[in-house]
Amino acid sequence: TLKGKRAVITGSNSGIGLGAAIELAKAGADVVINSFTDRDEDHALAAKIGADHGVKATYIAADMSKAEDCRGLIEKAGGCDILVNNAGIQFVSPIEDFPIEKWNAIIAINLSSAFHTTAAALPGMRKAGWGRVVNIASAHGLTASPFKSAYVAAKHGIVGLTKTVALETAGQGITCNAICPGYVLTPLVEAQIPDQMKVHNMDRETVIREVMLDRQPSRQFATVEEIGGTVVFLSSAAANQITGTTISVDGGWTAM
Ligand code: NAD
Repeated sequence: TLKGKRAVITGSNSGIGLGAAIELAKAGADVVINSFTDRDEDHALAAKIGADHGVKATYIAADMSKAEDCRGLIEKAGGCDILVNNAGIQFVSPIEDFPIEKWNAIIAINLSSAFHTTAAALPGMRKAGWGRVVNIASAHGLTASPFKSAYVAAKHGIVGLTKTVALETAGQGITCNAICPGYVLTPLVEAQIPDQMKVHNMDRETVIREVMLDRQPSRQFATVEEIGGTVVFLSSAAANQITGTTISVDGGWTAM
């Protein structure tokens, strides 16, 4: 059980982040959910998680594209025992047309945010002699696809950051690992479908079967509960000596 542990999950008002927050709450952890939106429904979502699972759950607004917001999130949370770096965005375009501001936003949100939150969270973890950093990378942290230069670069980058943080914390009761999901049906994936339909000139069903799940041998999307369950496993005592590595949850994608 993770009772008494405080988990901060970046980008967690939807999709995988929300799934991770719910699974951590189910396991007994207090959770801090985050996005940059700061709507009434974001705060209500935290209240519902707290009530459903009998844990302390709060919402803290912070924009993961901004260094000071990333560090401020950890400060406002009062530090954390479990840090899940999940916030991420996607943009699909051939590199020569790739908008510079999209490149910069993807590197900031998908990669640099984890640098800032981890730097802010580690001193408290060291003091406690226990900590977990779980980075939500991607199968695209291990392999590439065309038209996703920024995303693939950021995800490979976060796998490298994961290994470095693991070495800097080894033997201190702190672990740092990356989860590499294949395709999980979330708003982020849903939003890629129109772009992919355009790039490949295919209809929705064909894009899902032939393009998206083409590299996922199971031909099944992973679920947010399965990714959240992997976060809980990495936070458990069974994973004390698992550090600096990646766990693929990809239906066999990276086995190909
Ligand atoms: P999603 O769009 O459902 O969720 C993204 C989350 O990030 C949202 O909660 C959103 O509010 C938040 N976010 C976006 N920009 C932010 C910002 N500037 N500041 C704070 N929060 C911000 O997408 P998802 O599919 O759940 O993706 C979550 C993570 O999982 C991402 O890092 C993504 O790259 C990764 N991932 C997803 C899949 C997939 O198939 N869905 C596969 C591999 C990896």
